[in-house]
Amino acid sequence: MTAQSQVNRALFDEVMVPNYAPAGIIPVQGKGSRVWDQQGREYVDFAGGIAVSSLGHCHPALVNAVKTQAEKIWHLSNVMTNEPALRLAKKLVDATFADKVYFANSGAEANEAAFKLARRWALDKFGAQKDQIISFGKSFHGRTFFTVTVGGQAAYSDGFGPKPGAVLHAEFNNLDSVKALISDNTCAVVLEPIQGEGGIIPVSAEFLQGVRDLCNKHNALLIMDEVQTGVGRTGQLYAYMNYGVTPDILTTAKSLGGGFPIGAMLTTADIAAHLKVGTHGSTYGGNPLACAVAEAVLDTVNQPAVMQQVLSNEQLFRRELAAINEQYHVFSEVRGQGMLLGAVLNEKYKSRSRDFFLAAADHGVMALVAGPDVVRFAPSLVITPEDIVEGMQRFALAVKQVVNG
Ligand SMILES: *Cc1c(COP(=O)(O)O)cnc(C)c1O
Repeated sequence: MTAQSQVNRALFDEVMVPNYAPAGIIPVQGKGSRVWDQQGREYVDFAGGIAVSSLGHCHPALVNAVKTQAEKIWHLSNVMTNEPALRLAKKLVDATFADKVYFANSGAEANEAAFKLARRWALDKFGAQKDQIISFGKSFHGRTFFTVTVGGQAAYSDGFGPKPGAVLHAEFNNLDSVKALISDNTCAVVLEPIQGEGGIIPVSAEFLQGVRDLCNKHNALLIMDEVQTGVGRTGQLYAYMNYGVTPDILTTAKSLGGGFPIGAMLTTADIAAHLKVGTHGSTYGGNPLACAVAEAVLDTVNQPAVMQQVLSNEQLFRRELAAINEQYHVFSEVRGQGMLLGAVLNEKYKSRSRDFFLAAADHGVMALVAGPDVVRFAPSLVITPEDIVEGMQRFALAVKQVVNG
């Protein structure tokens, strides 16, 4: 057996496939928005496991949900349905534009289902020539081969052999670039309401409405990837609700499980009808444990008081970041909405987001990057004002360290 003292960062390099470069510390315990590492050092968590831990760590409602369901039934596969999946689907349908839900285990899987559904819908209704999917530069939709090909960074899909075809890329927030590509052969346009991995870039209201109109004109589906923006993160249950523009298909994951793996694709009854028996599936998708936890997340998050807290937390974050910037002059702007914010580094600190991320960890606060020029914050939706202020005091010290070199 490996002794506790040997379970350290060095062991990662010994036994793990080297596709990640994790930080040196190993967190072992969390409560709310505080986390402790193996040495007992405490961190304020502004990262939320990349917009996943929507209710912080070990929220009592989620601990209770997982324990209660764990003592009932864990797994049936889709040869049987189960009560938690049906309850969760009903709540998602009641709370959104959608009539139908497909459950998966991750964001990429939810998007994979969305893209396959769009293709099948178009094939059934219009024929094989209507197969083009339009997405956007800098977009991110997951790491399966189809989703990474649809995503806007060729570097992530290069080097794995022939890519799925009929995928086109337009420029985000540039309607003319969409007009130049869209046609009656387009089956779907897919976008994130706020590009997350691409640098916390919000869609403009006019652009989103313009894309919706173009989709209507060409009988193309509008797919919104709300894997990062969904489940209350922007102060509405889903970000599309901020715009009054309704998608045909929506994908959700990350915050939906609050840390337990689950994803879902939401759509209308007419479109859903094209994923007939046997056309798609997943062994674990919609399993009782994941759905029981996600149901507890949704019950807790989808409350006016929580949505209010997300927006007041945003204001506090923005005030604190403005105060830090007044002192150290490192950011050109703060983008995003609710508890998905990006502090954009100015010219002087361009390409140095990782330095800020590492300095933050040194000073006891977990932040994220979104590309080389943006420090990203995606904390718990219910992080307390005290934790925000404490975390920002620590982040200010990190900024000071980077500025003083
Ligand atoms: C994280 C993310 C995904 C991929 O989700 P996984 O659970 O990692 O597969 C897809 N789309 C967006 C917008 C994301 O932020």
